[in-house]
Amino acid sequence: MRLEGLSANLGAVHELEGSLLRQFERLPRVEIDRGALKRNWAALASIHPNAQTGAAVKADGYGLGAVEVSRALFEAGCRNFFVAWPEEGQIVRSALAPKNKNARVFVLQGMEPAAVRFLTDHDLVPVLSSPDDLTIWTEGLTALARRAPAALQLETGMNRLGLDERGLGKAMALVEAGELEVALLLTHLASADVSPEDSEAQRIRFSAMSARFPYISRSLANSAGLVCGESFGLDLTRPGIALYGGMGCLGGLIATEPVARLSAAVIQVREVEAGEKVGYAGAARLTRRTIIATLGIGYGDGYLRALSGAGVPLRMDRPAASAVISGCAVPVLGRISMDLTLLDVTDLPAGSVRPGDRAELFGPNMPIDKVAEAAGTIPYELLTGLGPRVQRVWRN
Ligand SMILES: *Cc1c(COP(=O)(O)O)cnc(C)c1O
Repeated sequence: MRLEGLSANLGAVHELEGSLLRQFERLPRVEIDRGALKRNWAALASIHPNAQTGAAVKADGYGLGAVEVSRALFEAGCRNFFVAWPEEGQIVRSALAPKNKNARVFVLQGMEPAAVRFLTDHDLVPVLSSPDDLTIWTEGLTALARRAPAALQLETGMNRLGLDERGLGKAMALVEAGELEVALLLTHLASADVSPEDSEAQRIRFSAMSARFPYISRSLANSAGLVCGESFGLDLTRPGIALYGGMGCLGGLIATEPVARLSAAVIQVREVEAGEKVGYAGAARLTRRTIIATLGIGYGDGYLRALSGAGVPLRMDRPAASAVISGCAVPVLGRISMDLTLLDVTDLPAGSVRPGDRAELFGPNMPIDKVAEAAGTIPYELLTGLGPRVQRVWRN
């Protein structure tokens, strides 16, 4: 779902103007395993059986499609959804309608005066993170003569969004004045995957700050936070990436299943002599006679240019990403272009790669974590960067 299309088309959930409809076979494709997504949610829920387990479905459900993702997670038992923007919240709300009465959709950012009516119209719970947010929300409600709950985000060490002690004091005063109803307190871990000490410090700070609201539910853990220890479960968790199969082995403890399989079609196969140059800037020079398979996917689809085999600054000496075709992993050759990527398939049996065959760029046979690492990035960026030309195909 593209945000640009939304203002013109707030009611339509599925088909937005300008979106690409697949007519033929060869567009790039991401196949999404609905069952794996649901099983991952259940597996993550089992880590903290006394907490509710929510789901981060922002950025169009991590690039896979917020509508389908939210519906699948609702079926799995999820009742708490987190998005970044009000507009995204409305998509999730409509996706869950009409059976969404007991689901809550939290909106992490995007508070502004004009948004208050929209948020309450669509039964979205804003996460208030600054004194400004508190003012805008409570004044907006008063002007509309409405009552609605909000969540509060507390600053515990990330210095990104969140109320500090003073902001929290203002929130308390508003609660006491009957102008603010608080449904949830949350904070976000900056280093759950890298620093147990920093995470523990944030947990302790959160615990101290939230003690001022002793009867309100609390939420702390993202995916990596789920395996930081029992005390990180609290009342509600908020995993994102692990649901979608990124961080395939959470903290070395919980294995999740791959959910997304990105594939592209072979458009041409050619044989090229040793000594020839390949692709933009002739960045790859062949040291042997080479069979090249040209794939119909490129950085314009979110297959990052940083995955190139050679010739991209800063990764001249690093090994190329690989893709799986005919059951074998083969390297990317030369620079990735906007719409095309070259694979070196010389080592496969002669004639085994033909136009129309598909190569897996990440998925069950090529871990997304490994591909992200090859690009010098994180699986989040690979998923959320999948472009509009990549067809989302849901499998049961
Ligand atoms: C994105 C996000 C999450 C989910 O994080 P993952 O690392 O994907 O599990 C949870 N909470 C907040 C506030 C977020 O912004």
